[in-house]
Amino acid sequence: MNTVNDVYLNICHLYPDTLNLYGDRGNVICMEKRLAWRGIGVNIKQVPIGCELEWKDTDLFFIGGGQDFEQEVLLPDLEGKKADAIREAVEDGRVFLAICGGYQILGKYYTTHDGVTCSYIGAIDACTVGGAKRMIGNFMFRCAPEDGGFLVTGFENHSGRTYLGPGARPLGTVVRGFGNNGEDGGEGARYKNVFCSYSHGPLLPKNPGLCDRILELALRRRYPGFVLPELESGFEHRAASYMSNRLGASPC
Ligand code: GLN
Repeated sequence: MNTVNDVYLNICHLYPDTLNLYGDRGNVICMEKRLAWRGIGVNIKQVPIGCELEWKDTDLFFIGGGQDFEQEVLLPDLEGKKADAIREAVEDGRVFLAICGGYQILGKYYTTHDGVTCSYIGAIDACTVGGAKRMIGNFMFRCAPEDGGFLVTGFENHSGRTYLGPGARPLGTVVRGFGNNGEDGGEGARYKNVFCSYSHGPLLPKNPGLCDRILELALRRRYPGFVLPELESGFEHRAASYMSNRLGASPC
C-alpha cells in the first residue's frame, strides 16, 4: 500500500472480467493514478463472479458495462448475498460509479429486446427496457449543477432504454446523443452517493473534474472535510475541449 500521511482509499472493482466494455476499467486506473499523483494511497480489490463481497471497508465501488449476454450470466451470482451487500452499501452512503450494463444491474430490472426479463439489484429507482435500435455514438451531457455542472464527453452503445422513478434523478442533461433513453433528455442517474452513466470512453480519464469530485466524495466519508489537492490537468482538459468542440459545444 502506498500511503502518504496515512490517507488512503479502498476501491472495489466488481465483476472486472465480466463487465469491461470499451476500456471501462480505465476508470479504475484513472482513479488510482489521480490519487497516487497526489500521494494518496489506494487499495484496489477485484470481486469477480464467485467471490464474496465484503462491503464494510470499501469506500468506492466501480462496475463497468457488459453485453446483454454477460448481464444474464451474472444473475445467479447476484442472487441473495451479493445483491443484499450492494443494497446495504448504497444505503450506507458508499460511493458507486456504474457504467451502462453496470448501471442497468443497479436498477430494478432489464427486459432485453429478446424479451428476457432480468431482475436486478433494485439499489436505485430505475428500470431498463431493450429497444430495436441501438443508441450508439460519441455523446455529450452536462452534469446537474449539484454534481459540478461539468460538460462530459463519452461514448454510448446500448439497446437498453433506462427510465428513472421518483427515487432517482439524472446525473445530467443530454447535449448530443441519446443518454438514458433518447426521449426525456436525461443521462445517467444519481441516488445518495451512487453515480450512474451510459458513458464509456472510459468516462473518468476524459473528464477529470468528475473523477475528482467522485474521489473527494469517497475520501470525505473516511476523512470528514478532506479537500483533494489541486492537480495539474492541462493535457486532460485540452483533450476534453477538443472532443466537446468536435461534438459542437465549448466547455465552461
Ligand atoms: N447490454 C446493455 C445494452 O445494450 C448494456 C450495453 C453496455 O454496457 N454498453 O443496453
